[in-house]
Amino acid sequence: MTTVQSGSAEYRPAVLDLTALHASVRGELFRPEDAPYDEARALFNGMIDKHPALIVRCADVADVIAALKFGVESGLRVAVRGGGHNGGGLGSVDGGLLIDLGQMSGVRVDPEKRTVRVEGGALWGKVDHATHVFGLAVPSGIISTTGVGGLTLGGGLGYLTRKYGLTIDNLLEADVVLADGHLVTASAQENSDLFWALRGGGGNFGIVTSFLFQGQPVGTVVGGPTLWPLDQAGQVLRWYQDFIRNAPDGLNGFFAFLTVPPGPAFPVELHLKKMCGVVWCYSGPQERADEVFAPIAAFGPPALHGVQRVPFPALQAAFDGLYAKGSQQYWRGDFFKSLGDEAIERLCERAQTMPTMLSTIHLYSVGGAAHRIGQDDTAWSYRDADFAAVYYGVDPDPANADQIRDWTVQTHEALHDQSMGGAYVNFMMDEGQERVKTTYRDNYERLSRVKAKFDPHNVFSVNQNIHSG
Ligand SMILES: Cc1cc2nc3c(=O)[nH]c(=O)nc-3n(C[C@H](O)[C@H](O)[C@H](O)COP(=O)(O)OP(=O)(O)OC[C@H]3O[C@@H](n4cnc5c(N)ncnc54)[C@H](O)[C@@H]3O)c2cc1C
Repeated sequence: MTTVQSGSAEYRPAVLDLTALHASVRGELFRPEDAPYDEARALFNGMIDKHPALIVRCADVADVIAALKFGVESGLRVAVRGGGHNGGGLGSVDGGLLIDLGQMSGVRVDPEKRTVRVEGGALWGKVDHATHVFGLAVPSGIISTTGVGGLTLGGGLGYLTRKYGLTIDNLLEADVVLADGHLVTASAQENSDLFWALRGGGGNFGIVTSFLFQGQPVGTVVGGPTLWPLDQAGQVLRWYQDFIRNAPDGLNGFFAFLTVPPGPAFPVELHLKKMCGVVWCYSGPQERADEVFAPIAAFGPPALHGVQRVPFPALQAAFDGLYAKGSQQYWRGDFFKSLGDEAIERLCERAQTMPTMLSTIHLYSVGGAAHRIGQDDTAWSYRDADFAAVYYGVDPDPANADQIRDWTVQTHEALHDQSMGGAYVNFMMDEGQERVKTTYRDNYERLSRVKAKFDPHNVFSVNQNIHSG
């Protein structure tokens, strides 16, 4: 008999008999005493250090079912990891069972149907690579090391949001292992209530082993940053707000307060300067790019205009090196309808106090195609927002953890009363149940009913948790 002592009294699995589990999974099992355990439990956010009692690195759907059944029967709290990127560390659990999907990362493109089948543990970089050769892309986020699972289930905001909607707006179907171990397909035709909830409701309803996406025609884009001095930020932000709201859907750009990294992509005189700017992505007809970008040049001379033709996967990966696994990270978010003078002033003030080179504030446009989906067509309820803000404290040094956390929380406190109330679930950490409810607005009740149907005992609790109604 192989046994393991759980580290947590809270979930009280005294001793686990792993013999049957060993026999039924093709993937790997890691216990605290196994050499790969520390590597296997490490999360993207170095600020979060969780110790599961057992990690099952699944090889296939059968492993997922076996692991889940084992976890439930053993009374272990279950966590599911896609890419492990979640800011709040929701891809792991202290003292429980971690079902790691990282080895289930296959991507299959059907160029004729323009569909993309992606296993539940893939990272976006793999999807970008596999689709680009066919002139396709699936709308995702702005960092290619992020997991497909968590980003999709939370919504998915990125460079293609204005043109093709959120990631969930491109989801056609999902294969889901439910709390009772059954595998079902969710789509507009099958289990449509589950399909509705998966599109924004996070990992609350089951383990998605495979996603089927609509691929979109995206190849080479025109993208990169335009930067202005921080003392012009108020003026730039006012201009950006009007400009992006009225821009063609093919043009997107997220606004950033940032510190210029000391790298060869930037002129030396800008290195380590706090600045503001927009990182653009134009995915419309290439012959119209000059015309679309003309108002940006006309607005006022920037300190840097680094926009160029670039393969979409390269833009997606442009910031991967800066935001590396293991950094200390603390997040808070808000949605904004409109940025008034007061909000703009406070944003500019908070930007001046960004505590470390990597700490940043981003505003992502929720316009264009994402606006044209109804508020209750999917679980993602802030379709009327114009911007999703993230206040993101980051630093490689654990000694600075308190500093970045404090700055992030204070920035959120300074801005929150100007916001719409809720936040994008993927930009939340540990803010509690009321905040989760606020984020889903009128959709929360329906989500509760779907939770009661598919996961009445809250087996999937390590997420921005929805309580069954
Ligand atoms: C550097 C960085 C940049 C980011 N940029 C963006 C961005 O541009 N746009 C954006 O929208 N978001 C962005 N995010 C946020 C990101 O969407 C979330 O962190 C997301 O939770 C990451 O997904 P994951 O699979 O890597 O996370 P994990 O930590 O693995 O999981 C997060 C949650 O999703 C659940 N989950 C994951 N996979 C599955 C699955 N297959 N089935 C069921 N449940 C699952 C987990 O149980 C957990 O509750 C960024 C995050 C980071 C760290």
